[in-house]
Amino acid sequence: MSNRAVPLLIANWKANLAPAEEVALAGDIATESKRREVTPGSLMIAPSTLGLVPVASLLAREHGELQIGVAAQDVSALAPGAQTGEGPAIHLLGIAGAAILGHSERRILGESGALIGKKVARVVAAGLTPIICVGDSAREATIEQRCDEVCAQWEALMVSAAQSGCSLSALMETGACIAYEPVWAIGSGVAADPELAGRVATALRRSSSDEMRILYGGSVRAEHAAPFFSGSGASRLDGLLVGGASLSSTSLLDISTALGTAR
Ligand code: PEP
Repeated sequence: MSNRAVPLLIANWKANLAPAEEVALAGDIATESKRREVTPGSLMIAPSTLGLVPVASLLAREHGELQIGVAAQDVSALAPGAQTGEGPAIHLLGIAGAAILGHSERRILGESGALIGKKVARVVAAGLTPIICVGDSAREATIEQRCDEVCAQWEALMVSAAQSGCSLSALMETGACIAYEPVWAIGSGVAADPELAGRVATALRRSSSDEMRILYGGSVRAEHAAPFFSGSGASRLDGLLVGGASLSSTSLLDISTALGTAR
């Protein structure tokens, strides 16, 4: 994972693009990153499962100096073996360095904290970095309700991860991140208030570790990205997870510029 002093910007492409389109976009992002002198290690791309290998190959072969990370959008909770259709974490070695887990678009399909915790344990055991998503569901909730909801999600998945042999210290050694992604903000066009995100970050650090990297995600655009980094102490954010605005090299790199990691 990249240095904590440098904000981390993760592009979650979801299932928006075919693999060939993902390779083309990764190439555009790399070219634009060179032009804007992006800070090495400050960008990570999460292509679709089928796009992982060609995108990772392109970035390693032609743009290695940029140190653009590659993340899977999910992994299997199961071990490698006779498991038709599954994608075990350990198969990502040499392809991706991280995996997004527990995204609300997967929770809505029925993923529980128990299942996500098993995936966390698989990712950590493989020596990869988990990017663990939590998010509150109601736009009108109080700050206390939001903090209670996301901390309960975190605790539920960590109980399960511990039952699968994953300790908090092992998790921290991977450079794990928690991505605070309010469900009501994702894809809505309206991001959360950065101060609110900072208060949730404080609560999540209290539930996990003072050293936990906390990201924000949900309708981030370049115009309002910078204030997410105005917090300090426990409320500071370490990066952004971006969906829609990561589907164009210009809008992604504009966010990088707003964060001070590109010109
Ligand atoms: C996401 O789904 O992780 C996300 C942040 O999406 P968007 O930026 O489109 O709200």
